[in-house]
Amino acid sequence: MTDCLFCKIVRGDIPAAKVYEDDEMIAFLDIKPTNPGHVLLVPKSHHASLLETPPELLGSMMQMVPSLARAVMKASQTDAFNLLCNTGSTAGQIVFHTHLHIIPRKPDDGYEHWHGQPYADQQEADRMANAIRAALQ
Ligand code: 5GP
Ligand code: ZN
Repeated sequence: MTDCLFCKIVRGDIPAAKVYEDDEMIAFLDIKPTNPGHVLLVPKSHHASLLETPPELLGSMMQMVPSLARAVMKASQTDAFNLLCNTGSTAGQIVFHTHLHIIPRKPDDGYEHWHGQPYADQQEADRMANAIRAALQ
């Protein structure tokens, strides 16, 4: 993909602060980090989102997450991180080349967890669980 930002980074056409590379993926600093040390793990092959990415490749990326996250936490001097994969523009995806965010977290860094909303009643929860089970068939 000639126009894809992350393909350009993979090819080395535009610079990035690379922290890891192997045959299948690279990891580099997010240019606008949520917290310092925020890293993006990106497959070298172009796939628009997680849903289009071969599961075997996602598996390879997930195998890399623990050691990369430990390195991010060590460098950021913390013991917590969020793993994030925005999928679809409604979910905040801006770059349509699959990527996992590894975001180091610190106490009182100002990023609140989403506030959950309980189901109105058990029937509503049952309906939703049934709809998901049916969609998986
Ligand atoms: P998304 O919202 O698509 O999940 O995340 C895209 C991420 O890419 C954003 O966090 C954004 O800061 C980062 N980003 C956008 N442009 C560049 C760039 O040119 N270089 C780097 N290193 N990161 C970028
Ligand atoms: Zn791409």
